[in-house]
Amino acid sequence: MILLIPNESNTPIQDLADEKRVAATPESVKKFVKKGIEVLLEKQCGKHIGASDQDYIDAGAKIVDDRKSAFAQADIVAFVNRPDISELTELKPETLVLGHLDPFFNLPLINSMAEKHLNTLSIEMIPRSTRAQKMDALSSQSSLAGYVMMIKAANQLPSILPMMMTPSGTIKPAKVFVIGAGVAGLQAIATAKRLGANVLAYDTRSVVAEQVESLGGKFLHIDIGETGQNENGYANALTDEQKQKQMDAQKSAIADSDIVITTAQLFGRKPPVLITKETLALMKPGSVVVDMAARSGGNVEGSEAGVMKVVSGVNVIGTGNWSQSVARDASNMYANNIYNLVDEFYDSEKQVFNLDLEDEILAQSVITHGGKIINDLLMNMQQGE
Ligand code: NAD
Repeated sequence: MILLIPNESNTPIQDLADEKRVAATPESVKKFVKKGIEVLLEKQCGKHIGASDQDYIDAGAKIVDDRKSAFAQADIVAFVNRPDISELTELKPETLVLGHLDPFFNLPLINSMAEKHLNTLSIEMIPRSTRAQKMDALSSQSSLAGYVMMIKAANQLPSILPMMMTPSGTIKPAKVFVIGAGVAGLQAIATAKRLGANVLAYDTRSVVAEQVESLGGKFLHIDIGETGQNENGYANALTDEQKQKQMDAQKSAIADSDIVITTAQLFGRKPPVLITKETLALMKPGSVVVDMAARSGGNVEGSEAGVMKVVSGVNVIGTGNWSQSVARDASNMYANNIYNLVDEFYDSEKQVFNLDLEDEILAQSVITHGGKIINDLLMNMQQGE
């Protein structure tokens, strides 16, 4: 079985061209090779994570410099993101394509992959179960993103985060408000606490209050009626009335904060806009808001993915490719997730990835197979449910 790791800074997809992560490290290559899996890497794959082509060769991989012919040889292609639609013709039918395919927002690509009889597995659809934890790239990458966002915010703030008592005066700790306390939000809270800030957080899933408090944060309780989560732990969408109640109730917390981090996402849907320009105007000038949902539509009115701009006197940072600054750790974690996934389903006797669609992990994460889309969630969405 041949596993190909593309160099994603060579992607023809424009807004992903600054990708610095890679889906394999020399350590993960060693493990694949030990299992009898042949690993091809597009040259200079590890350029941004301090791994040279020679490091990969020493680990047992083969370096290829022709992207097209490499695609044609692969049985599995492991992306961090996804291929461009123009590259699909290079792949053999039945090739397994892994990556953050973002299927809800890339339907033309998914349809084209189905037509080409490619097997595709969307990493972000892997269920949040105990068994799948070791392959849960959504969590590994979100944790790092939460950390990065807090550091970006701290860098932008014209003051410090911890309390400081000196003969020259006393500085009060900064106030940080985190909206959405999922994986990224909890990591942002932990980072803010380590930096010495006072942290307040809100999430529509009140079950996370305990987790916020265990990190030393305070939970803002807002009564907006029945909210809750689905069987996978994802938040249910709010009604317009509930959303308005939430926005009104969190206004004073926002006005009182030096930094606001929003991470509110709804799986497979556009995230809710939770902070308007009017609310931003209530903050002290120079305060910082980080919109971690900016790439998928945004929680903050006026935010723009990959851009820092001043909106109503506040520095609004929209998440772009957050991983650039921590590409090494992000790649290490992602490479482990990919290895664990392949390892879980590798049939070493037949030397194939056993695409067992009865398996609960594959049943939820495989998107196309046998020339069609087979994922229930995606099919329901296409039918407008
Ligand atoms: P996510 O990225 O989909 O959303 C981020 C957070 O935003 C969530 O906590 C969500 O509740 C919150 N949110 C949505 N709408 C909101 C609103 N209007 N206001 C405030 N907050 C709002 O979530 P995620 O970080 O991927 O985590 C989703 C769930 O999966 C969580 O329950 C998490 O604990 C769970 N999880 C489980 C495992 C596991 O069991 N192995 C692993 C990782 C995550």
